[in-house]
Amino acid sequence: MSAFQKETVLSVRHWTESLFSFTATRDAGFRFQNGQFAMIGLEVDGRPLMRAYSLASANHEEALEFFSIKVPDGPLTSRLQRIREGDIILVGRKATGTLIAGNLIPGKRLLLLSTGTGLAPFASLIKDPDVYESYETIVLAHGCRQVSELAYGEHLVESLCNHEFLGPLIKDKLIYYPTVTREPFRNRGRITDLITSNQLFDDIGQPALDRESDRIMLCGSPAMLEELRELFTARGFVEGNHSQPGHFVIEKAFVER
Ligand SMILES: Cc1cc2nc3c(=O)[nH]c(=O)nc-3n(C[C@H](O)[C@H](O)[C@H](O)COP(=O)(O)OP(=O)(O)OC[C@H]3O[C@@H](n4cnc5c(N)ncnc54)[C@H](O)[C@@H]3O)c2cc1C
Repeated sequence: MSAFQKETVLSVRHWTESLFSFTATRDAGFRFQNGQFAMIGLEVDGRPLMRAYSLASANHEEALEFFSIKVPDGPLTSRLQRIREGDIILVGRKATGTLIAGNLIPGKRLLLLSTGTGLAPFASLIKDPDVYESYETIVLAHGCRQVSELAYGEHLVESLCNHEFLGPLIKDKLIYYPTVTREPFRNRGRITDLITSNQLFDDIGQPALDRESDRIMLCGSPAMLEELRELFTARGFVEGNHSQPGHFVIEKAFVER
């Protein structure tokens, strides 16, 4: 049995010149936990060309969804950005990753902090009814350079608010905080700075960061993760993993090559 399953692209949506999302069929045997990633890719010259991708769909959904960058000369995404409905993609049979609920000790407020395509695992988690059962408040922060790059997240949150079952939970518990660094917008600045200065919590009318009640998931650029890891560690938060749940967990949104 091949390590990869062939799936059919169901829809593609381009959000900006550098961002797109797509859905694909899901094999009935493909199981994952919300927040995990899998290897996905294309067959190129008869061989699989695979990269890690967070599952943006939730595990109760029928189709798979991904939110992707377009790297102009990227081996995979220079090709992947051209996929259309009906094309075949490859999806690894195993999902993995640290951004799962079980890697955090119980808390009251869940902070999901992301930049760029680092939003993807949180797109999955904010569709999970168990997350709303486990936490009183969920804060989804998404940082981008330009306002246009927020579109996928804005659209997602808006459609979830109108969802028949999740809508009431989301309106009650989810606080969405988009922020932009290079253009005028209602929230401005880097997530790291907004947390350090407490501005983020002031803006959303919530109490300051507190180790007793806050649990944190981080997904973004390697630089953002390193800065926030230092900040949280300095405040006594302990990083969790599969063998030892903690106050916060980290996943890279991509690897610098
Ligand atoms: C755990 C994990 C989960 C990931 N999930 C996603 C995801 O959900 N969506 C997604 O688009 N990518 C994701 N990536 C990145 C992905 O694996 C590829 O790197 C990306 O698709 C580009 O592939 P490529 O072959 O075109 O270029 P690569 O050769 O892989 O990358 C070339 C360069 O482009 C930059 N780059 C790559 N990916 C990104 C990105 N997402 N955002 C900003 N800059 C980037 C980096 O500087 C990198 O060195 C993830 C990576 C990891 C490790």
